Amino acid sequence: MTTTQRHRVVVVGGGFGGLPATRLLAASDLDVTLIDRRNHHLFQPLLYQVATGIMSPGSISPVLRHTLRKRKNVDVVLAGVTGFDLERRIVHTTSLPGEIGEYPYDSLIVAAGAGQSYFGHDDFAMIAPGMKTIDDAMELRRRVYGALEIAETSHDPALQRFWMTFVIVGAGPTGVELGGQIRELAYRSLKNDFRHIEPATVRVMLVDGGKEPLANFGGQLSGRARSDLEKMGVELHMGLRVVGVDPFGVDTEGANGEKGRFDCGTVIWAAGVQASPLAGLLAEATGAETDRAGRIAVLPDLSLPGHPEVFALGDMAALNNLPGVCEVAMQGGLHAANTIKRRLKGRESVPFKYRDLGSAAAIGRFKAIVSVGPVRLSGFPGFIVWMFVHLAFLNGFGHRFTALWRWARAMIGRARPERVFSVGHTGGDLSLPDEVKAKVMPKPFPVLEDQMGWADLVVRVASAAATENGGASDEGESAPA
Ligand SMILES: Cc1cc2nc3c(=O)[nH]c(=O)nc-3n(C[C@H](O)[C@H](O)[C@H](O)COP(=O)(O)OP(=O)(O)OC[C@H]3O[C@@H](n4cnc5c(N)ncnc54)[C@H](O)[C@@H]3O)c2cc1C
Repeated sequence: MTTTQRHRVVVVGGGFGGLPATRLLAASDLDVTLIDRRNHHLFQPLLYQVATGIMSPGSISPVLRHTLRKRKNVDVVLAGVTGFDLERRIVHTTSLPGEIGEYPYDSLIVAAGAGQSYFGHDDFAMIAPGMKTIDDAMELRRRVYGALEIAETSHDPALQRFWMTFVIVGAGPTGVELGGQIRELAYRSLKNDFRHIEPATVRVMLVDGGKEPLANFGGQLSGRARSDLEKMGVELHMGLRVVGVDPFGVDTEGANGEKGRFDCGTVIWAAGVQASPLAGLLAEATGAETDRAGRIAVLPDLSLPGHPEVFALGDMAALNNLPGVCEVAMQGGLHAANTIKRRLKGRESVPFKYRDLGSAAAIGRFKAIVSVGPVRLSGFPGFIVWMFVHLAFLNGFGHRFTALWRWARAMIGRARPERVFSVGHTGGDLSLPDEVKAKVMPKPFPVLEDQMGWADLVVRVASAAATENGGASDEGESAPA
């Protein structure tokens, strides 16, 4: 790869894969264009703290243009990538006002991440939002704190119970961290804030088809996670698949086909990922395979078949069954950037070798589990490691300092300083014209008010309460205990 002009690299995605790649390339004598449809790098592992009122959106989302301001050879472009012309070496984009753009490249790195998967039930999304973006976290914050506000103003105990019941689908790290935080804010942070409800009675149910929460951490640590969660009052309903979601709750199915149901005012989806559609576009253009999660199979050096100048990595790429975690994306981004630099020096590419630095998940206040090589930590020692790992990965001194301060306030104190939510907002700007709003927010919160009417809800919840037997509903099926 020799060239007389400066080498042009386009990086798609300023996330955990794209940002380190851009930074490394920016230190070389070449030009980089970083294209992202968001203006920020998102620290997804702390999204649950935005949703539950510990962190502000800005404290986990450094602005890409600002982060890269000193790199004069980096051009940051806010636009959605819509396609690729691999033969002409062009990336197609659409900008915010809808203008079409074209960005030529000599080398291309695509790290567009993954979105939520509803396993073919995209209709669940309106009722059970997932947690992948800042918008998702703000939506969840609104639903969590909004549900408690509705319970507070309701005079019917059955309705109060309905709104104070949260079902989280998926007992992986996201579901566990969210579940622990919702219980903790209810019994610890909000205990003096309400007059007509008792926040400590908030029910949080984690529903998952597997046997143990955080199963990826292995028997000993997931057992510890289970006991910590149970002590915090999180109800674990393992071995159940959620097969239906409606505004009144979820339907479940056990391993032997037994049906169940949980009534609740809020459902949160924390299960399943689907690779960016850009993985499919690249696969189509190169003949590469995609797996069930839509991830594109890449060559050992992370490039694509027939196109050594194009790299795909992070959550949208599949290689050696590597997991969809920050470290894989970061190391992949650095590998692709280094490969481009090597080739510019006339050297061959080498296969990507992943160094597993371990994994960590927070369960609650001063409680986390950590697995690094043969070392297993839980409880407070686990929390200390979890804290330092997250501080190290956060971008910028200011963000690290803010995180430390906010954790101290929430965990040593009881503060939830970020509880503001917008009552009328669902995925759209309130200043939008009505006809646009009708399209982007067709079902304003609460979904029930719009879809079914309040009266319907009262009847449903009241009749469920009449036949209630420890969480079972009026559907006639026993909810598994
Ligand atoms: C809630 C949550 C918690 C997590 N917790 C952990 C954890 O504790 N530890 C851990 O290791 N991992 C965790 N992960 C996984 C980790 O965040 C991902 O593995 C990592 O972000 C993947 O990096 P990436 O670069 O592939 O994608 P991302 O970091 O998601 O970046 C993708 C970027 O591409 C941009 N993009 C996407 N499509 C387009 C397009 N068409 N045009 C332009 N730009 C586009 C996006 O805006 C985004 O900035 C968590 C993920 C979530 C959602």
